[in-house]
Amino acid sequence: MSAAAAGLRGEHFLAGAAETEGGETFTAIDPHSGKAIGPSYAEATAAQVERACAAAAAAKLPLLATAPAQRAALLRRIADGLLELGDELLTCYCAETALPKGRAEAERGRTVGQLRLYADLVEAGSWVDARIDRADQQRQPMPKPDLRRMLVGIGPVVVFGASNFPLAYSVAGGDTASALAAGCPVIVKGHPAHPGTSELVGRVIHDAVRALGLPAGTFSLLHGRSHEVGTLLVQHPAIAAVGFTGSHRGGRALFDLAAARPEPIPVFAEMGSMNPVLILPRAMAARGAQIAAQLAASALLAGGQFCTSPGMVLWQRGAGDEAFVATLTEQLGGAAAAPTVHPSIKSGYDAAFAELGKLPVEVTARGAVGDGATAVCLTLLSASAAAVVANPRLRTEIYGPAVLTVGCGQRAELLQLAGSLHGHLTATVHGDGDDFAEFADVIEVLRSKVGRLLANGVPTGVEVCGAMVHGGPYPAATDARFSAVGPTAILRWARPVCWQDWPHELLPAELQDHNPLGIRRTIDGVVS
Ligand code: NAP
Repeated sequence: MSAAAAGLRGEHFLAGAAETEGGETFTAIDPHSGKAIGPSYAEATAAQVERACAAAAAAKLPLLATAPAQRAALLRRIADGLLELGDELLTCYCAETALPKGRAEAERGRTVGQLRLYADLVEAGSWVDARIDRADQQRQPMPKPDLRRMLVGIGPVVVFGASNFPLAYSVAGGDTASALAAGCPVIVKGHPAHPGTSELVGRVIHDAVRALGLPAGTFSLLHGRSHEVGTLLVQHPAIAAVGFTGSHRGGRALFDLAAARPEPIPVFAEMGSMNPVLILPRAMAARGAQIAAQLAASALLAGGQFCTSPGMVLWQRGAGDEAFVATLTEQLGGAAAAPTVHPSIKSGYDAAFAELGKLPVEVTARGAVGDGATAVCLTLLSASAAAVVANPRLRTEIYGPAVLTVGCGQRAELLQLAGSLHGHLTATVHGDGDDFAEFADVIEVLRSKVGRLLANGVPTGVEVCGAMVHGGPYPAATDARFSAVGPTAILRWARPVCWQDWPHELLPAELQDHNPLGIRRTIDGVVS
């Protein structure tokens, strides 16, 4: 990827101005060759962080005051701009991640779809959950006041994206789109693994903000490779909330920083997950090999670099499990994984195996080392239920193409193992006939640990729609009450405000009697 070909200039977008200045520099790395590619990016300085935060603070009220149609226009313009980048964006994405073009196209489609979804949502307007409880002067013993409430954007949001989703969970990803829809200025801390992709997308947002005459502080993108930029952003008093997608270590560090501020703020961190898969006896006996093939294909997707990748399989030993294990071993052991998206993912994967080497876990198959400087080996592991229950590390994500199998002796062991799991994004249950009824207790334990429960499928593939829950109990996420995907993700960036006995003509349009925006509201307890 030549810098000129990709139109890359090493730019931050700082509240309406593009600039290349900053501190130490870094470049993207080609995962195939391990060599530097693209232009240099300067680490944002403390002064640049300060300017971005001050501009976001200045944009807070003007952006909130924009009509929903203006924010919808911004989101649609960004979506169109991403498509207009055409192959330039796809080429840069593939060069920086070693992910194939088909994946880049699919992720771009999802990102564009998310932007348009939030545009439609904000334009329809009902997301503000307007509630009106009218006054009753005759009420005894005290008259009842007029109370009207709705959700209002929380203020400037800092967004951190993950390296494995350079579009859908990055600069114009779901966090940015939903925060802008809610009327919140956004500052993105670009992921250093894909600075070029970030720059191209950042320029699209920067241009859209200017073209629509929105406040300059509506959007900033700051590059950085050290943790300092992110730390300064999270600690800045102008920042009202943080959206994070990435590792448990990163999410937790930012969560702790936010909690330690003089004025704590919420951090919505979506982190790693093992996504346990439970195979029940009838399903195992009837189609163990078939389930293994399905699981292997899911675990191999994107070189195991999906947060929903199936990383742990549990079952009660019995009929069909030999065929299951044999097929899983054959399929995973016979494959070579693609390069990981960044050298840090490879080093994290290697470090995880160094830790596992000290634990009672057996490597039962290893795939061939794939091509590329950041290639890792697919690994199938096996441990006893007792070992997993006794060692928290065995119940924690190994990020990359690794699957841990745990065959349990007795049903009680299965229940104990399920009970020992921490929070995950998903759990999958394979069952036939009465399996689900007979193992209802184990399934209920799993349900209590996850955001999404699947039957007879694979956890990879996250549909973007209203019923989706992408999140889960800690440590899958820092707040299990919200989803990071789908229209409800906007709720993370808003808070309820109540107007009491307020002059009617001064109320927000959403709360005025004649409902000028035609939105769904709850009036005196009745949805209208
Ligand atoms: P990462 O290393 O945690 O990076 C994510 C972002 O957080 C980067 O911008 C990173 O900046 C920043 N960061 C990390 N630690 C920080 C700290 N201590 N202080 C300040 N900033 C910090 O994650 P990744 O390796 O890119 O992504 C892989 C992980 O993401 C996996 O665990 C995967 O399961 C998870 N993931 C989760 C989801 C989900 O929806 N739940 C989706 C995709 C991926 P620096 O690079 O500057 O450190």
